[in-house]
Amino acid sequence: MARVMIACPDTGKPVYTGMSCDEVTFETSQLTDKSVLCPECGQVHTWNKQDAYLESEEDAHQP
Ligand SMILES: [Zn+2]
Repeated sequence: MARVMIACPDTGKPVYTGMSCDEVTFETSQLTDKSVLCPECGQVHTWNKQDAYLESEEDAHQP
């Protein structure tokens, strides 16, 4: 499983969309007009699949 991330259009920081999926599911899924409340800038961003990327859980360790 990996986390579906977008880049905040205002800050450029990675934002977790709240969705997790594996690569195969991500590649085959239709993701359009999703929205996420951005913790970086406090606004709601609408995103589509082309805006999103996967971040594996192993890479997600933060101090
Ligand atoms: Zn934002």
